[in-house]
Amino acid sequence: MKRLVLASSNPGKLREFRQMLGPLGIEIVPQTELGITDADEPHPTFVENALAKARHASRRADMPAFADDSGLCATALGGEPGVHSARFAGSAATGECGGRDNQDARNNLKLLALLRGEPDRSAHYYCVIVLVRRADDPEPLIAEGRWHGEIVDAPRGTNGFGYDPHFFLPAFGRTAAELAPDEKNAVSHRGRALAQLVAQLRVMANAE
Ligand code: IMP
Repeated sequence: MKRLVLASSNPGKLREFRQMLGPLGIEIVPQTELGITDADEPHPTFVENALAKARHASRRADMPAFADDSGLCATALGGEPGVHSARFAGSAATGECGGRDNQDARNNLKLLALLRGEPDRSAHYYCVIVLVRRADDPEPLIAEGRWHGEIVDAPRGTNGFGYDPHFFLPAFGRTAAELAPDEKNAVSHRGRALAQLVAQLRVMANAE
């Protein structure tokens, strides 16, 4: 599996996956390059949505595919935005004409409004990655990661994407958007999930 379709049109995710999988000699083909549009994500759990996305891309591309489903879970909001993180403040991001940045800004405003006056600012990012070798793969590979932090009102930093400028890491004294890409990838929910997935791929390769 040296060539994998990524079932996402999110440029922030693509950048991070390429940074992490490139050194392993794995080429990532974003589904948009193959003319594959986003799958629906109607499910209440991250893992169901990730499986739906990976299957959809694998079926259309006739290639192995992987998807991550991820989001920010704020404790005081009972885990919201959670699976609704991408479209928390409304319609889907288009990625065109600054659409995704605009969507991120509106999502952040809504998050801060809901947390106003709330003493508990703890939150975590969650990521699950599902990899299928074919659309009807009965043994999808599943890996997950969590990253704990706090939501701060004032945005800081320009790296990363989404909620990163408001996601503060006490251990670093910085927000996720102030971390260099390598620093983020080493500890983030997506980095941890991917490390788990790579370990699973290695075990499989050694068993074959
Ligand atoms: P998905 O594409 O349905 O998995 O939605 C993921 C959404 O969760 C993104 O659009 C962001 O709003 C948020 N998110 C997930 N991972 C991150 C991250 O690493 N930084 C910032 N926001 C993230």
